[in-house]
Amino acid sequence: MVDVASRVRPGISGIDPYQPGLTDDELKHRYGLTRVIKLNANENALGPSPLALEAIRRELETLHHYPDGSSELLREAIAAFHGVSPEAVLVGNGSDDLIKLISETFLDPGDEVVVPQPSFSQYGFGAAIMRATAVPAALRPDFTYDVEAVLAKVSPRTKLVYLCTPNNPTGTILTRRELDWLLERLPEDVLVVLDLAYNDYSQHPERVVEDARLLADARIIALHTFSKLYGLAGLRVGYGLANPEVWSFVNRVREPFNVNRVAQRAAVAALADEEHRRRSQAHAQASRAYYAKALAELGVPSVPTEANFVLAETKDAKGTVQALMAHGVMVRAGFGLPDHVRITFGTEEENAACIEALAAVLRQRG
Ligand SMILES: *Cc1c(COP(=O)(O)O)cnc(C)c1O
Repeated sequence: MVDVASRVRPGISGIDPYQPGLTDDELKHRYGLTRVIKLNANENALGPSPLALEAIRRELETLHHYPDGSSELLREAIAAFHGVSPEAVLVGNGSDDLIKLISETFLDPGDEVVVPQPSFSQYGFGAAIMRATAVPAALRPDFTYDVEAVLAKVSPRTKLVYLCTPNNPTGTILTRRELDWLLERLPEDVLVVLDLAYNDYSQHPERVVEDARLLADARIIALHTFSKLYGLAGLRVGYGLANPEVWSFVNRVREPFNVNRVAQRAAVAALADEEHRRRSQAHAQASRAYYAKALAELGVPSVPTEANFVLAETKDAKGTVQALMAHGVMVRAGFGLPDHVRITFGTEEENAACIEALAAVLRQRG
């Protein structure tokens, strides 16, 4: 009998498979609910871009054909949108795909990757599958970035530094000035992966803006996704902007058809859907104000956010998630934060229902 465990690459058994939490179907089944309010994955409450939906319908007849393996039309659209050359753009099956590809391209056992703490779990996952070491750089107690702490974690073995702004799960931003400070001091040969999944939700005057000067820095890899602002999480498409030489190596590791036909077409259409983008931004802005006030009224501290979610200090995060589930409201805990839950902004009605359920849960707790 084959001893499977002994044949597995070192380090793989130490990885915990990603736990996405219950799906809405599972929750309905478990609690006998007819309706579930899903505020646990930072999805777009307004749904997909209508222009993307039209493009998807048009593309269905051609699904017997393989996609364009280089996603050329999509890369050209993204390049035009950002004012860069198509060679500076790589698209992935979600930006999760790009994080994994970057890890596979650059990391060897013993290499180090600096990751903000708390932040998105996929950075550590990418390091773990390559047996590289994720070195956490803690945010400050108020969850703002501490760039000196980030810099202090950089060693001669550091290959990548991840920076997520606005950060998931805190919603706090790294300012452009802090980023510039860091870039001035980081070694020339350390790549900086800037995860901008939520950046277009922010109107903060000091947020990171991807101008020509930033993108000209050969160390910068800026990641974007169609999963959040564009409402296409189920399609899986994300992209990165970087020095073309970075992509020339990542392309050797990439699957030939990593982004499907429908996703390529939908993403081109979504990028051109200015109205959906504006509505999504305005909705997040209104929701921030709503939650800041409503949570304060419940006596629940929350972190000022620039994203489409808010981190709320409810105490007993796991208990809060469970208790809210019984009310049909799904929020997320974890992130190494025992007292905080992350609430994604829903529709106005869903937000009100979430606050009502949270009020009931807190009352019951006494
Ligand atoms: C949601 C999210 C992504 C996007 O992931 P996709 O794979 O593109 O769906 C990337 N980074 C962060 C920080 C996220 O929260």
